[in-house]
Amino acid sequence: MNRNRYPKMVVDLKKLRHNIDRVLIKCQDQNVEVAGVIKGCNGLSECADELARAGCRFIASSRLEQIAAAREYGVQADFMMIRLPMISEAADVVRLTEISLNSEMEVLKALNHQAGRLDKKHKVILMVELGDLREGFWNKEELLEAALAVEHDLHNLQLAGVGTNLGCYGAVKATPEKLNELVECAEMIEEKIGRELEFISGGATTSYPRVLEGNLPRRINLLRMGEGILLAKDLQDLWGYNMSDMHQDVFTLQAEIIEAREKPSYPQGEIMFDAFGNTPEYEDLGIRKRAILALGKVDYAFPELLLPRDKKIKVLGASSDHTILDVHDCEKDYKVGDIIEFDLCYATIVYATSSKNVDIVYV
Ligand SMILES: *Cc1c(COP(=O)(O)O)cnc(C)c1O
Repeated sequence: MNRNRYPKMVVDLKKLRHNIDRVLIKCQDQNVEVAGVIKGCNGLSECADELARAGCRFIASSRLEQIAAAREYGVQADFMMIRLPMISEAADVVRLTEISLNSEMEVLKALNHQAGRLDKKHKVILMVELGDLREGFWNKEELLEAALAVEHDLHNLQLAGVGTNLGCYGAVKATPEKLNELVECAEMIEEKIGRELEFISGGATTSYPRVLEGNLPRRINLLRMGEGILLAKDLQDLWGYNMSDMHQDVFTLQAEIIEAREKPSYPQGEIMFDAFGNTPEYEDLGIRKRAILALGKVDYAFPELLLPRDKKIKVLGASSDHTILDVHDCEKDYKVGDIIEFDLCYATIVYATSSKNVDIVYV
């Protein structure tokens, strides 16, 4: 196969390592361990390996396939399943991971059963719903009942702790107050079982501001972080935190120009529907220089989220396999065969790393 194949995703493992090291140092300062979440880059094993070598307490994913691939690759780590397991995959959860996040009694029973068959002890973290309205126990009595059942009846499971997730669906902020509620749940359980829980897992990258500001409740000792390591962009762009000590360009998408030509900027003829059934609007800016790239929506889904490194380039739009750029104002005179580079965001990295068209290379 031609090694100089495009489109290409270049993954800079040194920059990734730098990002993990920064996060780990800041978290260690506050006695917080980190589960490195690999789902954002479709579980690339090379990235998982880097997170494991840096010292993440767990390597975590929402997909067992990604964990299986990382293990196959030889990543030395304890693995964590962070999407609630399906009953139908309980055997694989126990076989492939050391610990999982849970919120359903029936699933816990299935995990217990499968752990018994494999003669394994599987750790579980019970998820608490704090208002973001995705996963977790809402009723505190139900939470306690499940905790007691795991502690006393499900002998192949180990009640490792409690956790929560904030900011993913409901966009609810991980305030110290919300996280204190989680600590209270943990302490309610601890009082009844007569021992300390190993983990109180206070969320994802959206809880990392508490570490940066030094107001994470003292007993929270585990965060599960993906975006804040892989990209470190949302906390800077959306939340206004200074993340200049982190690399926002671990991932670079490269694509090749297949046509470069001056054309009218306004479609000529009767405008009906585009490839996706939309009727777009166009601005008539006269004749402009355009370039077409050999990649499209199937590779990244959202053209408006592609960020050209050459700031003079404007992404006009895309169809499945073509991306159309306005390169009229660029200093460089782009020609067919030239390569254009893009920064990505969390949403586009996951598409680009899972597209079969995109060659992934590591530097
Ligand atoms: C995706 C996910 C994470 C990591 O989220 P980031 O925003 O990438 O840090 C953590 N926990 C759970 C349960 C998740 O689903």
